Amino acid sequence: MNTQITKNDLTHIVEADRAHLWHHLLQHKSLESTDPRIIVEGKGMRVWDQHGKEHLDGVSGGVWTVNVGYGRERIANAVRDQLVKMNYFAQSAGSIPGSIFAEKLISKMPGMSRVYYVNSGSEANEKVFKLVRQISHKLHDGKKYKILYRDRDYHGSTLATMSAGGQNERNAQYGPFAPGFVKVPHCLEYRGQFGDVTDYGVRAANAIEEVILREGPDTVGALCLEPVTAGGGVITPPEGYWERVQEICAKYDILLHIDEVVCGVGRTGKWFGYQQYGVKPDFVTMAKGVASGYAAIACMVTTERVFDMFKAAPDDPMDYFRDISTFGGCTAGPAAAIENMAIIEEEGLLENTTVMGERVLENLNALAEKHAVIGQVRGKGLFAGAELVADRATKEPADEKLVQRVVADCMQQGVIIGATNRSLTGFNNTLCLSPALIATADDIDAITAAIDGALGRVFGQ
Ligand code: PMP
Repeated sequence: MNTQITKNDLTHIVEADRAHLWHHLLQHKSLESTDPRIIVEGKGMRVWDQHGKEHLDGVSGGVWTVNVGYGRERIANAVRDQLVKMNYFAQSAGSIPGSIFAEKLISKMPGMSRVYYVNSGSEANEKVFKLVRQISHKLHDGKKYKILYRDRDYHGSTLATMSAGGQNERNAQYGPFAPGFVKVPHCLEYRGQFGDVTDYGVRAANAIEEVILREGPDTVGALCLEPVTAGGGVITPPEGYWERVQEICAKYDILLHIDEVVCGVGRTGKWFGYQQYGVKPDFVTMAKGVASGYAAIACMVTTERVFDMFKAAPDDPMDYFRDISTFGGCTAGPAAAIENMAIIEEEGLLENTTVMGERVLENLNALAEKHAVIGQVRGKGLFAGAELVADRATKEPADEKLVQRVVADCMQQGVIIGATNRSLTGFNNTLCLSPALIATADDIDAITAAIDGALGRVFGQ
């Protein structure tokens, strides 16, 4: 770590944190016995904390975000240059980086055509929900307003996105939620609620159709799904699932909203996760990897068909998308996103992701041979999960405290991994890996070696 930080400065920073910060997703009682962790510097795949300890980051900034790795001067310089020239103007006007990034992004998304800039994944998803409601009012007398979401999927932290949240335990104590959101079953074959069958994917999709028929197809406006469910336990879709989902949406005139907040911009080895499965969405939302955390930017992307619905009656003052996001006009976002995308292209990071993703799965599968606590390994690209079970036969989830000890053991070894918590998903305990797309074979091997050691110590295997 190069950063010069004196002992006095450090004491002050820790005190300020203790006195004034409210950390995200943290039970603050834990900070009574330990110091807060402060990440001081990052380079490539590695970060350094306030004690100068080096960590190999297996989860890209904790929540699968820093796709191109830390310390990219090229992105920082582009953002700086843009900010001193023109930092902000409301998006009723355009900006130079806003236009250029929109064009580049759409060139990676055949069939899509319009980009709407916002700040966060939750917000991007909210924009879709609003559009679906408005389309319902414009075309269907307000009746086709329901939005289907899937058990185990997560779409954000705001009240409407929580209303579309498939992880009940996350929602506890925050209700009541918005009306008009209806849950459909998840598609995790490992916990096969549709039995041990050869056409699991089709059956899981048919379960969505059952909900549509129960609700009434003329009341359902959209279906919102993650291509690979992230926080719900890295759930990859079974074969045949997406083809059937697409057919069902077409049959009942239901708009398909793909939440690419995690999978987007390379994470699975293609630009977007849905492109792994031949899906044709009406809406795509993305956030984390768009600028890899170098600036706060998220996008709601849609088709010309949807866009056209909002310019059909120019004389009607209500007939446009009456929505704004103030900081959607901050040019730091698209300026960073242009460089982020260029880095992925120039360094061949999609290809690297595919190759290294296979290595992650191979390594984790090898660990499963050795550690009976691994019930199933799942993943796509540099996005993988190992579900931990107390008993392989019954698939009883492993004790959550032990899963957390695996994460803590890796941290002690200087490797950061993640885990979905049973108390949050109500479902499974899955170790999660989402290293930056620049990961090398040595990085991957170091991450899985740390997991190997941790599983041995925690579970005695
Ligand atoms: N969708 C998915 C699939 C996510 O994983 C997340 C965040 N973890 C969100 C939406 C919400 O994004 P944000 O935190 O930027 O609002």
